[in-house]
Amino acid sequence: GRALPPLAALSQVLRLERSRRTAIVFPLQKLERYLAPGTDTARFRLFQPGLAALQRAEAFFRSDRGHPIDYVSSAVRMDHAPPLALPEVCFIGRSNVGKSSLIRALFSLAPEVEVRVSKTPGHTKKINFFKVGKYFTLVDMPGYGYRAPQDFVEMVEAYLQERRNLKRTFLLVDGVVGLQKTDHIAIEMLEEFGIPYVMVLTKIDRASRGVLLKNVLEIQEFVKESTQGCFPQLFLVSSVEFSGIHLLRCFVAHVTGNLPTVESS
Ligand code: GDP
Repeated sequence: GRALPPLAALSQVLRLERSRRTAIVFPLQKLERYLAPGTDTARFRLFQPGLAALQRAEAFFRSDRGHPIDYVSSAVRMDHAPPLALPEVCFIGRSNVGKSSLIRALFSLAPEVEVRVSKTPGHTKKINFFKVGKYFTLVDMPGYGYRAPQDFVEMVEAYLQERRNLKRTFLLVDGVVGLQKTDHIAIEMLEEFGIPYVMVLTKIDRASRGVLLKNVLEIQEFVKESTQGCFPQLFLVSSVEFSGIHLLRCFVAHVTGNLPTVESS
């Protein structure tokens, strides 16, 4: 098998010194001390699991013989989607936002899982389903973009409206460039359908602290003022440094009902 990337497992993170460990596990918290005094930070800490919950969550993402993690199927039409048996989460975002890298990082403890990328322009984009044991399904939606074809919008709309087992949608936004026009198309769709979602800022290792802070505050303000269905806490991730990956695994386990009680750290 392939070697695990450094920091893919919590046991590796726990060997780091304290402030580095916090930066990897709770990247949003690390920004708190650069905020103007008096800033309301309640939305930075709504979901703040302790070590025990993080460890229990990690176990879902670690495959073994009794707990297989498998790519199950791809669908171009909803009648090709697997049955609605398990709770489901889906990941959507613009092409190049870092979605495949993020899903690969989440599944890095199950290196046999292949996260396929179909980037060739003109190729039919598909919805990819991954089954995590008997616990939940993780869905990789096709990336949308500037030239998002109508069939993409139709496929995503159909998916969002028909999957009654969909527990949460993770909308990926580039942490370096912030919300773009095309992101608002996805946001409008989620708001219109009343789908609960959460925003994930990607590639945070590439953003300077100033840029990241600006994007976080702008998006938080937008979420507060202009959305109904978006979870108020943003999730920050780097698939290269593994920051935010452990927290996101825990949130996925939680929203799929597999970690009902999450004690705070
Ligand atoms: P997708 O089209 O949304 O699936 O995007 P990819 O996962 O293929 O990533 C697009 C580009 O961004 C690739 O060149 C990745 O190597 C890069 N990338 C993705 N995630 C990260 C990250 O967390 N940090 C950095 N520095 N680069 C990233």
